[in-house]
Amino acid sequence: LPEYAFIGRSNVGKSSLINMITKRKSLAKTSGRPGKTQLINHFLINDDWHLVDLPGYGYARVSKKEKKTFQKFITDYFKFRKQLVAAFVLVDSRHEPQKIDLEFIQWLGENMIPFAIIFTKADKLKPNALERNVEDYLKKLSETWSSLPPHFITSSSKELGRDEVLQYIDDINNNLETE
Ligand code: GDP
Repeated sequence: LPEYAFIGRSNVGKSSLINMITKRKSLAKTSGRPGKTQLINHFLINDDWHLVDLPGYGYARVSKKEKKTFQKFITDYFKFRKQLVAAFVLVDSRHEPQKIDLEFIQWLGENMIPFAIIFTKADKLKPNALERNVEDYLKKLSETWSSLPPHFITSSSKELGRDEVLQYIDDINNNLETE
């Protein structure tokens, strides 16, 4: 089955988003503690595709060696996983573009891995601030990219953006089937 990987910095709201998308309350554990999602988790959605929960990156408090192991684990997944269709890179709506995210996005591009951006925690900002942040983020990406990736604005607490993300994935899956 086709796989869609969800990844982002620790605390970006990945577990909450996965719970919103899967409509499960307890499978992806939300926690402020870094390193909780240690391994790859697969969630079967609509008997149709797998949502893949990858470990968060960018922990401040792990050793260099742990960071390296983590990094290799993640990059190996992206490089060798045949079922992978696209990645969703989660970024916090409130923050300006972070170096580690931009580097990761760059790496995905260099390795020709399709991706989309998911802005998380949209409810934490006023509409105009949200809009400005998203615009600034895309502007930053357009400095290095000739065409911008798709993006989604989500809030797990307000159940925002769920349908859009699911529709996007469905559309790709339907195209895969007719190919
Ligand atoms: P993860 O480390 O990326 O899996 O992040 P979590 O899903 O555990 O979320 C980290 C923190 O952000 C938790 O305290 C969540 O309750 C909070 N959070 C996550 N998503 C949202 C959201 O959409 N809105 C708000 N207000 N808080 C959120």
